[in-house]
Amino acid sequence: MTPHEGQKRLILIGPQGSGKGTQGELLSVYLQIPTISTGHLCRTEIEHGTELGKSIEQYVRAGELVPDEIVIQMLKKRITEFDAQDGFIIDGFPRTVAQAEEAESWLRPTKVIVIEIDDAQAVERMSQRRACSQCRYKTTADFVAKHGDECPRCSGKIVQREDDLPEAIQHRLNTYHQITQPVVSYYEAHGLIERFDGAQTIPKVFMEIAHVL
Ligand SMILES: [Zn+2]
Repeated sequence: MTPHEGQKRLILIGPQGSGKGTQGELLSVYLQIPTISTGHLCRTEIEHGTELGKSIEQYVRAGELVPDEIVIQMLKKRITEFDAQDGFIIDGFPRTVAQAEEAESWLRPTKVIVIEIDDAQAVERMSQRRACSQCRYKTTADFVAKHGDECPRCSGKIVQREDDLPEAIQHRLNTYHQITQPVVSYYEAHGLIERFDGAQTIPKVFMEIAHVL
């Protein structure tokens, strides 16, 4: 599909703790275009029990990456759906330069938005997260400091998940940098990258992004 004029075909890149997810939601409302996450597409196929979903489930169960052909097949279909005619915001693709090259003929991004944040700041933000061990209610360390560790929803105990411990976060950040850097360089060479400082407040980052679109 060839992009038509004014269509916003955006790719969103950023580590955990950068506020990327929130910016994706805000941009989706602001631009009236869908946010498309490859993880979400996979989960939807699995939930709907489609043939594709069944094969995706096998990879997920085996702890393997869903193969490129499947991810690409889902994305190609999704970006031509009715709600994406004015554009889309893709989160979670491409993850590799090979995927970016393959996508050259059909993805045609108009901008690649990179939200950056120091590892130390990302760790700081992420390690504030707390969750109920029973109902998974999400809250913060500040809340626990003020109100105690009893879940306001189910009276369960609020804890810090192992995933949110600093070492685990740092490990994911290292992986993120390793995987993402080549993709960012690839799009940089195509003149598509716009960088934003994710250490700023959510509204400030949003205003800056909106300004360049
Ligand atoms: Zn709870």
